[in-house]
Amino acid sequence: MGKIVIAIDGFSGCGKSSTAKLVAKSLNYTYIDSGAMYRAATLHFLQRNISLSNPKEVQAGLDSLKISFHTHHGNQETCLNGINVEEEIRTMKVSEKVSEVSKLKAVREELVAQQQALGKHKGVVMDGRDIGTVVFPDAELKIFMTADLEVRAARRQKELLERGQMVPLEEISRNLAERDHMDSTRKESPLVKALDAFELDTSHLHFDDQVKIIVDMANEKILLNTKEAWK
Ligand code: C5P
Repeated sequence: MGKIVIAIDGFSGCGKSSTAKLVAKSLNYTYIDSGAMYRAATLHFLQRNISLSNPKEVQAGLDSLKISFHTHHGNQETCLNGINVEEEIRTMKVSEKVSEVSKLKAVREELVAQQQALGKHKGVVMDGRDIGTVVFPDAELKIFMTADLEVRAARRQKELLERGQMVPLEEISRNLAERDHMDSTRKESPLVKALDAFELDTSHLHFDDQVKIIVDMANEKILLNTKEAWK
């Protein structure tokens, strides 16, 4: 009763995904990583050598693209045409191409439709760039996360190291800044803060505290929603 949609948007490497995952866990909601969908599409396009300037090739790529999420030993895995690509979509090879793929209108239309279908029964936490503005403009709770670039780069480097990838800090910083720029200036659903989103700067916040802030806000909204439903 009273289930809501929680949209978490923001710049690259703000910790949206890890935060959203824990928020979903504590509310017993479904977590959907929309960035993983753009990353899986990018990997698919790279594997097929699809020319991004050729609309027919892009469409053929989208027609043969099937993204799904599975939980394995408590961890969420992204599958591309039935194959677990969770590790591969996080590599720099994909990070360097993803913003070019995600600016294509055809790609956005297809993935936004899939995201809306995944959240139609509510009870979801979705993170991305356009969740509160385009995918779920009526989401009951919208968070816009920010953090200083140096903080974001250091966090991302640690994350990559934990996955066994050693990437220099400057390379990560450059990639984050480039993606921020491309994502914020693109024509199709650019990254902007929704007017009704709550801005959360996590530069100096402990991870547990940022999760708690969002969970507390969500519980308030859920209570409100439940009261409305009883009226
Ligand atoms: O969230 P993550 O950093 O994994 O997203 C990878 C890229 O996917 C972003 O830099 C952006 O280009 C694209 N993206 C998007 N819209 C979303 C989520 C991600 O354009 N809702």
